[in-house]
Amino acid sequence: MLLFLTVFVASWLYHGLGITIGYHRLLSHRSIKIPRFLEYFIVSGGYLCFEGSPIAWVATHRVHHKLTDKEGDPHSPRNGFWHSFAGWLFSPEYKTPKEQFPVVVPDLLRDPVYRALDPSNPKTQWLICLTVCVVFRLLILALLGPVALVANLLGAATIFIAAFLVNSVCHIPRFGYRNFETADASRNVWWVGLLACGEGWHNNHHAFPQSARHGLSWREFDISWYAILLMKALGLAKDIRLPKKQELVTGGVSTSDSDKNRRPAAMENIEGPVAALEKLTDMESRLTPDAV
Ligand SMILES: [Zn+2]
Ligand SMILES: [Zn+2]
Repeated sequence: MLLFLTVFVASWLYHGLGITIGYHRLLSHRSIKIPRFLEYFIVSGGYLCFEGSPIAWVATHRVHHKLTDKEGDPHSPRNGFWHSFAGWLFSPEYKTPKEQFPVVVPDLLRDPVYRALDPSNPKTQWLICLTVCVVFRLLILALLGPVALVANLLGAATIFIAAFLVNSVCHIPRFGYRNFETADASRNVWWVGLLACGEGWHNNHHAFPQSARHGLSWREFDISWYAILLMKALGLAKDIRLPKKQELVTGGVSTSDSDKNRRPAAMENIEGPVAALEKLTDMESRLTPDAV
């Protein structure tokens, strides 16, 4: 039982932080800077959780931020719950075309490791990911036995499903609450926050996309943020992006016309990835390292 619980918790953290810190806060939003060896290790947790190519993942996510709950959003519940949960994965029209990658993910294309994990044929990309994931599980089986293998699979499955819940449940008005009057439907949902290592504070995230911290108070438990603080304490993380204190106060709670211009750029009606990246740069200017 001890082995099962230990491997389950370790797997939940390894795969969870691999997605939340690795794929999301680090690669998608550049919320922190860490040494390259550590970046690869953390990202490996997401890759070994069947998340596929980091380049394709980040491209989809950046487009989601630019077109949130609007035409072109890859996984908005406006197209139905199943579509936002997992259905979009099976709809090629919601994938960011590879010819747009140089505009949407130019930073990741410069990295040879991420390029190697993103061959031109999508089927090959998933075959590589599946093979690596299976080999990883065979190693667990050989080194730790079947109990550890089951524990790892359950930990990975929890995180795999939790990531889908963020895309779907955290954009459905009947769930959770909002701290900021963003122009999308994003919500803070506590149980998704717990399951998904802090990613359920999704309204906060859409208000401040490049903030390394999603849970903005002690009540909004964000284990990924505490992991980032640990890395900082160990001297491994720097340039940690956070909202300015003033923006946390006035970051969108008012709905008056005079404040509409202060709404997060991701909410504005933009047409495509080029405009999206311009808005991404605009958001960067609203954030400052270590502001709180
Ligand atoms: Zn979202
Ligand atoms: Zn994001």
